[in-house]
Parts: sequence; C-alpha cells; structure tokens
Amino acid sequence: MNKLLLAACIAMVLFIACDPAKPKDEKPAPDTTAAVMKMDSVMHYDIAMVDNKKDPSCGMPLTAGIGDTAHYKNKVYGFCSKECKAEFEKNPEAGVLAAELKK
Ligand SMILES: [Zn+2]
Repeated sequence: MNKLLLAACIAMVLFIACDPAKPKDEKPAPDTTAAVMKMDSVMHYDIAMVDNKKDPSCGMPLTAGIGDTAHYKNKVYGFCSKECKAEFEKNPEAGVLAAELKK
C-alpha cells in the first residue's frame, strides 16, 4: 500500500540529489579587444599590387584572385596559386612572355 508513497519519497530524494549544482562564480566576460586586435594573418594580394593582368602559367585573369606573387626583373607577377608560381619559376622568361602586363 505504501509503494506509491515510497516511490514519491524516492523521487523526492532523487530530485533533491539531482538538483544541479549552481554554476561556479562566473568570471567577467573576457576582454574582447584582444580578439578584435587579432588581425587576419592571411595575406591578401590585390590586383593593384602586381604588374600583370593574367596568370602567366594558366592565363587566368588575376581579377579572379591572386594566390601568390613572384618578383622578377623589377616586376611583380601575380599567380592564381602557388603551383602556377612554381611553374613560372621553372621558366621565368617564358612566363614573362606569356604574362599579359598592365599598361
Ligand atoms: Zn594559375
């Protein structure tokens, strides 16, 4: 007959036992200035920084994005990727001929 009461007691005990611990004293929110100050470490090349309009290796217009640059004979050549830069460096003279320079 007392099963229900017993169950209620157990439930009560469990409820109290399971009472979630209060969160520890929370520290004040960390200063967000540090996060804001962290600059984007990825270098972004701009078409204005290079002397060519097209990737000498693959012919892609550099307006689509510059992945890397190379300096050669006082000119800055932009490439869509490091692979294209490596291709250029294998034979810079051919690359220079292939590169479409900005006027
Ligand atoms: Zn390319």
